[in-house]
Amino acid sequence: MNQCTILTIEDEPAISDILRLNLKSAGYEVISTNNVKQAENVVKTIIPGLIILDWMLPGTSGPTFAKLIRNDKRTQNIPIIMLTAKSLEEDKIEGLNAGCDDYVVKPFSPKELVARIRALLRRRSPELTEDAVSNFGLSLYPATRTVSGNKQEITLGPKEFKLLHYFMTHTDRVHSRAHLLNHVWGDHVFVEERTVDVHVRRLRQALTSTGFHKLIQTVRGVGYKFIGEQNNQPFP
Ligand code: CA
Repeated sequence: MNQCTILTIEDEPAISDILRLNLKSAGYEVISTNNVKQAENVVKTIIPGLIILDWMLPGTSGPTFAKLIRNDKRTQNIPIIMLTAKSLEEDKIEGLNAGCDDYVVKPFSPKELVARIRALLRRRSPELTEDAVSNFGLSLYPATRTVSGNKQEITLGPKEFKLLHYFMTHTDRVHSRAHLLNHVWGDHVFVEERTVDVHVRRLRQALTSTGFHKLIQTVRGVGYKFIGEQNNQPFP
């Protein structure tokens, strides 16, 4: 299972507990915080897959934190759902303008929230969902953590699996090593860029017997690209 870590920022303990329980039972890893300062400390060390953000918080407000997240290159792509008692149209607009991707009004249905999280991840971070992906006959199943191609089961280590999942959900674009560290490793602060090359090499080795290693291309001086079949491209 490809686990997505959700960071919640909610100062009301009862709501924070409801979030934790429901997100955990939906299969997510949860980090609960109750103010922006705590959340900032979390984001310094890991890049969560998604943020659930209350509007009214002691100290810094939710929208201000959303702006901070959006203005930092390292965190700018994290999907954010604003969770708030404010239900006026202008509040929703302000929340969306601050950089939130979705808006859920309290009292909320946990089931609906989970459905919105899934929809948002599918749209913004398909590598964090359980949806199976297929490309030129190479198939990856996140729910069972299996990969197959040309009727063969392909065995991958956890990092290689994550890397392939990211490549398969983001084909035909060049990814720099720093970008891959951010999105596959969760951060590039503590890991060297050379690490990416090591794992790409391992992934290529694991794919060689099925011929799918050809889908990974090295773009000199930049990084790596994974060939997708979407644009009617021939198999390389
Ligand atoms: Ca609050």
